[in-house]
Amino acid sequence: MFDTAIAGSLPKPGWLAETGKLWPQWRPAAGADLDEAKRDATLLWIKAQEDAGLSVIGDGEMSRQHFVHGFLERVAGIDFAHKVEMGIRNDRYKAMVPQVVAPLALAGRVHAAEAQLLRAHTTRRIKFTLPGPMTIVDTVADRFYGDRVKMAFAFAELLNQEARALQADGVDIVQFDEPAFNVYMDEAADWGVRALERAAQGLACKTAVHICYGYGIPANVDWKKTLGGEWRQYERVFPALAKSPIDQVSLECIHSHVPPDLMALLEGKDVMVGVIDVASDVVETPEEVATTLATALRFVPRGRLVACTNCGMAPMKREVAEAKLRALAAGARLAGEQAARA
Ligand code: ZN
Repeated sequence: MFDTAIAGSLPKPGWLAETGKLWPQWRPAAGADLDEAKRDATLLWIKAQEDAGLSVIGDGEMSRQHFVHGFLERVAGIDFAHKVEMGIRNDRYKAMVPQVVAPLALAGRVHAAEAQLLRAHTTRRIKFTLPGPMTIVDTVADRFYGDRVKMAFAFAELLNQEARALQADGVDIVQFDEPAFNVYMDEAADWGVRALERAAQGLACKTAVHICYGYGIPANVDWKKTLGGEWRQYERVFPALAKSPIDQVSLECIHSHVPPDLMALLEGKDVMVGVIDVASDVVETPEEVATTLATALRFVPRGRLVACTNCGMAPMKREVAEAKLRALAAGARLAGEQAARA
């Protein structure tokens, strides 16, 4: 009854990249060996998602070092050779980021190989993730545009080109990841959503946005402790999203302090509710997953609810992520049975 999907990333096998890291180094140095390892890892996770019983399949982001920089690597106008340290997400943590030094343009297709591989190896619906414009501008250093909004719209145009090409590859859902929306709420409700709409413009496939409180890394866990007993960040951006043409919204729920009634602000949207905690190695039981979905059902119509993970699982242990995929699907099945009886 309920669709099931991952937010985006999955752990990279140890033979592909360093494990347990957000910006891991690849194991094969480069070239054909690295391409082959990325392909093999993608196939492995397609199979694992299908075996777990998910209805929407992703590539697990096996081919990108990081969810933002994977896209940037194919963008002309960016200097990757001279990275600089920058505080990102309002200085929550420091990262070495590339610099925008010239007008931005796509140097070719970004994710054609992964999307076509995914389409060729599953008959289920496929979702492909791209970083959102606001999150990109928060993850690169600007030495050219001198204006965050202008630079965000420049990136949005490039994202739109790639998104249209992904649609032509047979992608059913293009999702933009915007964790920055939960950090710069006023700017998100103002130009962040507009830039997102520019990125999604003209797409006939489903469009989605993922907004979360970040991976389960220590900097994020510490930050969450400062947010108090009620996390109301979504309240400031959901009304703007409800008015937008974006079809689906992915949000964090289980083990968060997000008041579930905020989901009611997303009237008319499909809601991908986070029923799997990515900041804990404890595997949810199907009952826990079903309970989270039952809570969401108080605010979201049955036909619009999708069971999802809170965020990406990139830094997790592989066997934990596999077990969580199974819990996600089993819990969604259980919730479906319960809802059918109710
Ligand atoms: Zn996330």
